Amino acid sequence: MRESRRIHPRALLIAAACCGTAAAAAAAQTQATAPLHGGTVTTTRAHAFETVLAADGLRVFLFTGELAPAMVEKARGTAHLALPGGRSVEVALAPREPAEGEAITYFCPMHAPIVQSEPGECKICGGMVLYEQDYLFAAVDLAGVDPAAVKAMVRITGLRGAEKEATFSPAFPTPARKAGPEGTGKRN
Ligand SMILES: [Zn+2]
Repeated sequence: MRESRRIHPRALLIAAACCGTAAAAAAAQTQATAPLHGGTVTTTRAHAFETVLAADGLRVFLFTGELAPAMVEKARGTAHLALPGGRSVEVALAPREPAEGEAITYFCPMHAPIVQSEPGECKICGGMVLYEQDYLFAAVDLAGVDPAAVKAMVRITGLRGAEKEATFSPAFPTPARKAGPEGTGKRN
């Protein structure tokens, strides 16, 4: 059973929503795009990153240019965060395994369509145990901070492939809340 996979980075994203005939055999419980974590996805020349701001800190998930999950491996990073009120922090991003209770993405590093939220084996490989996607983490106390007011500059080094380093500035949306005509643009 041979499958011709020729995935174009853009095409995969576009095709994700509809059915993929090539992966029909495995289609039942796979998806072409990676499950995300509510963060901001930034695509660079050869990679994609999902940056998540949470009360306990900053998480950066790595993806291929095709938005398939990727392991951290030798990647490391730094982030500069400009926070409301003039506070500014520089933090180091270090590899971390998903903790108990965190949503875990399981994937096959060789077969992009094999991505799922439960542990298992790759049907295409014939039994290889799926990887658990890890991520880069930096502890920052962001409790009560409006993500939309945070300006971030993230630099990742030690990446695989043609693009060994990437620098990007993800913008964070304000968490869903009732939009009101509050004209409070500034806060000190
Ligand atoms: Zn596989």
